[in-house]
Amino acid sequence: MSKYWNERVQKLEPYVPGEQPKDQNYIKLNTNENPYPPSPKALEAMRDCLDARLRLYPDPNASDLRQAIATYYDVPVDTVFVGNGSDEVLAFAFMTFFSPKRQVAFADITYSFYKVYANLCSLDPRSIPLDDAFQIPVDAFCETSGGVVLPNPNAPTGRGLPIDVLRKIIEADPDRVVVIDEAYINFGGTSAVSLVKDYPNLLVVQTLSKFAALAGIRVGFAIGQPELIDGLNRLKNSLNSYTLDRVALAGAQAAVEDFAYSEEMARRVIATRERVSAELREAGFDVLPSESNFIFISHPEHDAEQLFRNLKARGILVRYFNQPRISDHLRVSIGTDAEMDAFLKVTKELIREDR
Ligand code: PMP
Repeated sequence: MSKYWNERVQKLEPYVPGEQPKDQNYIKLNTNENPYPPSPKALEAMRDCLDARLRLYPDPNASDLRQAIATYYDVPVDTVFVGNGSDEVLAFAFMTFFSPKRQVAFADITYSFYKVYANLCSLDPRSIPLDDAFQIPVDAFCETSGGVVLPNPNAPTGRGLPIDVLRKIIEADPDRVVVIDEAYINFGGTSAVSLVKDYPNLLVVQTLSKFAALAGIRVGFAIGQPELIDGLNRLKNSLNSYTLDRVALAGAQAAVEDFAYSEEMARRVIATRERVSAELREAGFDVLPSESNFIFISHPEHDAEQLFRNLKARGILVRYFNQPRISDHLRVSIGTDAEMDAFLKVTKELIREDR
């Protein structure tokens, strides 16, 4: 704390991101990045814009990127908003649609940034415990007022929600905005984008970080009716008109236009996930069914923190959460087949040694 920080900053409780080691020798399975490279067309588009045009500001409306997203999803372009990673889009959504001291509901356990945003915006966070199977208690979400944020699939559990459940939560109160965070939707879930035309209170948020393997250029987007999108623009243009740079805009547009490539990579990730899940179950692990590019695992006889540390010592980074209810679990991002074979081999050795 510093006396120079204003009261608002003193009260912040910032997010602590997963480890991003400088040392490239790790098999990195801790922050749900895509193990495959981005579309070659996206890389080419970014290289092509590295010239004197960089002296000019980028398009503040990101028109071409928004049009590419609108075309892929077959929605009007005025229903698309883009931002610097879905973290920024989510932060803007909190600042635009939720009001100080009013409730905003999210699950306990979920993406921990929601609580940080709720605190940033002085909201009244209502965290609703997941049930014993780590599922969302639907009725409890229907009963809250103020606003709702739901990731589908949830993180770090990987569990997905059927569309009719989302519909029920959205319809429960048309006066509150429901934000569905679909960061991992392309790995087996069902997107709520098709519901946007029916519900003015629905905002669907996605990212190019996972599906398009572009975490490094920070591009996320939201789809919602123009009333919501106009609100996000109003907020964005009161903070920073140029949230996306020229290189990111060019790369993201080419990536979206080549989403067929990302779909193929996602099919590979899903196949690896299913294979690894089956092998881990055979080795005695509990593996939650996952609709994402990670798995959430525990072993009845082995300590998760110890396993995390031992894996790290052997050059494999996974995610351990030192928090109630899930400190016996590890979240493991799905890497390439070779990376996952190394993970399986070392994990099996470690649990044998630990007997
Ligand atoms: N939502 C969820 C559920 C996530 O796990 C993440 C990634 N940590 C994000 C949003 C943010 O992703 P990005 O800012 O890279 O788009």
